[in-house]
Amino acid sequence: MGKYTGPCKAADVAKGLCFGGIARRMAKIKEIRNKFPNHLLLDAGDQYQGSLWFIEYKGLAASYFMNLLGYDAMTLGNHEFDKGVDTLVPFFDNITFPVVTSNIDVTNEPRLQDRFNKSVVVEVGGERIGIVGYTTKTTPSISSPGPGVRFQDEIQSVRTEVQKLQAEGISIIIVLGHGGYKLDKKMAHDVEGIDVIVGGHSHTFLYTGDPPSIEKPDGEYPTIIEQANNTTVPDPDIIEELKDWKRPLQSLKQKVVGKTAVHLEGTNKECRLQECNLGNLVADSIVSYFAERNSAEDVWTEASVSLVNSGGIRAPIEKGNVTMEDVLTVMPFGNYIDVITIRGNVLMEVLSHSIESRDTLQPDGAFLQFSGIRVRYDTARQSGERVVDVSVRCQNCLVPRYEPIDRKALYKIAVSDFVISGGDGYDMLKNNENRSRFSGSPPHKPLSPLAEAVQSVLGEDSEVISDLEGGIDSSLISLLQPQDDVWRRFSCLSALATGRPPYEDT
Ligand SMILES: [Zn+2]
Repeated sequence: MGKYTGPCKAADVAKGLCFGGIARRMAKIKEIRNKFPNHLLLDAGDQYQGSLWFIEYKGLAASYFMNLLGYDAMTLGNHEFDKGVDTLVPFFDNITFPVVTSNIDVTNEPRLQDRFNKSVVVEVGGERIGIVGYTTKTTPSISSPGPGVRFQDEIQSVRTEVQKLQAEGISIIIVLGHGGYKLDKKMAHDVEGIDVIVGGHSHTFLYTGDPPSIEKPDGEYPTIIEQANNTTVPDPDIIEELKDWKRPLQSLKQKVVGKTAVHLEGTNKECRLQECNLGNLVADSIVSYFAERNSAEDVWTEASVSLVNSGGIRAPIEKGNVTMEDVLTVMPFGNYIDVITIRGNVLMEVLSHSIESRDTLQPDGAFLQFSGIRVRYDTARQSGERVVDVSVRCQNCLVPRYEPIDRKALYKIAVSDFVISGGDGYDMLKNNENRSRFSGSPPHKPLSPLAEAVQSVLGEDSEVISDLEGGIDSSLISLLQPQDDVWRRFSCLSALATGRPPYEDT
């Protein structure tokens, strides 16, 4: 990946400015293995979903290369369940290392029985080491494990397993966890007997000393240094192996679908805590897509509002040409766009859930980016009262304007099928009677309808300039998401001006 965590640009590849990747990791792993004869290679989950590799190979590239790297154990992340149990089963069929997670009950899911254990004991340098796994219990609301997979309390499950290992005489215990930095810290505090937690999920950058890239560490990392940096020379054997695997991906990587004149922010700290310009672009693209395809003469669009969960934005896009790979790296999940009709009071609940989910320590994907809504939040207020002021862009009109929200009025909203199914805790949108699916222009492969909407806007003649509107106070006290207007950006680029005050009429 590149320095902003998106795909590495060709120019940066030439300059050796890329990070991570399987070959660099292999080189680093070999280096550490040579230096320290007693070692373990562990993976904290979310291994296979989220890139072109998954779109092309499902979990099979991950299993192949993880086997090659020689993992000692892995735990399951929420994303391992994104395509349901059917896609997870072949991954289990192919891996040659143990999977551990202590809080998943598959009594009612025969396909996953005997696939993993709560823990595994490995011997390193004559010491027996217990490795206990756990997987975030929020998985059913952020992924698709299905009704047969039940998630239990993480801390209680880990504690029970640690005590069992201790009773067997195991004194060194590693927790391999997929619940995020905050939960790991609580677990380290609450559960006796844990020596080390190797955690995932929150993508928290822990590092001690001078950081290896422009990313600022969120905390210290005192024992093991995993962060690959650009001084790592990739492993030649893996590079050779990768050639065949990469061939089918080449056309996607190289296909330029548009151009952006600005850097499009897509990291968790940008899009999960405040308005971000890539969030605006995605949300505006959806509305733009509907407006362009609207055939009714008396209204300007079928859906004047779109909501985008920030967890659906996986990477930034660097200034310059935008490739198919960039789009699919931002939106790898294959989502559809559905349109629902909800009352203003439900929309208020949605916005309230968004601001309640905002967590500066562990930025949460439920925080929304949107188009067609201007909202003022006040995080200093009591929970449940933080949405202060909302305006909504009209839909049953010919000139789009923002109007104060009417709690009794009906609004047509375009949202990903994931969120409408209650994903990221948006239960108030579930079971919506007036749900219609926007199917895009088939065949979508490899683009989903959501990615297709963004690609179609990027592909317009002019360069995209996605900006942030003025007046955002991103301090903890007051957070404003004014949101701007799709037409200004895509049809009247010259009209764009930074610092436009929030409630200005369109
Ligand atoms: Zn995760």
